[in-house]
Amino acid sequence: MGVVRKKQVAGGAEPGSPVRIRVSTPAALPDVDPKAVFAWYCDQFVLPLPDHHRFPMEKYRLLRERVAGDDRIHLEIPEPATNADLIRVHCEDYVARATSGGLSRDEIRRIGFPWSPELVERSRRSTGGTIHAAERARRDGISVNLAGGTHHAFTDAGEGFCVFNDVAVATRSLQARGMVARCAVLDLDVHQGNGTASIFQGDPTVFTLSVHGASNYPFRKEASDLDIGLEDGATDDIFLTAVRDGVKQALDSGADFAFYIAGADPYEHDRLGRLSVTKAGLRERDRLVFDACEEAGVPVAVVMSGGYAEDVHDTVEIHASTVLEAVRRVSVSASPHR
Ligand SMILES: [Zn+2]
Repeated sequence: MGVVRKKQVAGGAEPGSPVRIRVSTPAALPDVDPKAVFAWYCDQFVLPLPDHHRFPMEKYRLLRERVAGDDRIHLEIPEPATNADLIRVHCEDYVARATSGGLSRDEIRRIGFPWSPELVERSRRSTGGTIHAAERARRDGISVNLAGGTHHAFTDAGEGFCVFNDVAVATRSLQARGMVARCAVLDLDVHQGNGTASIFQGDPTVFTLSVHGASNYPFRKEASDLDIGLEDGATDDIFLTAVRDGVKQALDSGADFAFYIAGADPYEHDRLGRLSVTKAGLRERDRLVFDACEEAGVPVAVVMSGGYAEDVHDTVEIHASTVLEAVRRVSVSASPHR
């Protein structure tokens, strides 16, 4: 395991029922049972992909269907992120070209999806879901976007199936409105969060942690505040030790809010993963993250990120376990016996 620290970050915070499905704005959210976890979904905004494209777009619908039967989950469709939201992070020129079909062939190839108006709408909704989840997590302690985690998007370019960096946009949205001072990004997807690391480089108000496969994509890594690169074949013990240490350091940075990028792709049978982490190991990862956030008293917004298992149902099961663990936490903390 290789541990690389980019910089020292000063410690201490800066001052600083039945399933109901409906569309609403944050200001008009319905009053619901306090046990409910809000989960935002946008799987109906499908983008056209060529046959045999390796991105498993259906995982989002399957995931929503899987968790929809749990009456502790309140599903909502997010508003799309606006240009004003996006340009808090992305260059205006990039946003204008990405949303109007003005990207070059090379830029499109780097993203890995063919450009279409549906791609723009889908990317805006997915980013909007993370903004909503972050806002809601401040109130409930935990909220979930059943999409998001597009951590390979840079200020001026997308790549690796990522057009806009949802977590960065949501971070800036919360900060711009004075809702949080310091954020920790807990990126436990198997691929390094290179876009996020680049966006927040040198910014003392955001601590970026990435636990990832050292030899996996992206092959040119950016410097996070804490990078923990794992060897191919890393097992549960190695992975969980890295998660425990990394999350502790990230939260000790004085964060008053956390994003959890809960990729399903560290899984041993992931086609793009290269690690040997079991489903039980990933469930333990989720528990470690929620325990650490709870101990630190930090609200957490959860986003899904990657998952490319040989059998898409394995990816869906791993994502669903994360969501259901989040639900369990909120249900327990809402209990009068606690
Ligand atoms: Zn990934």
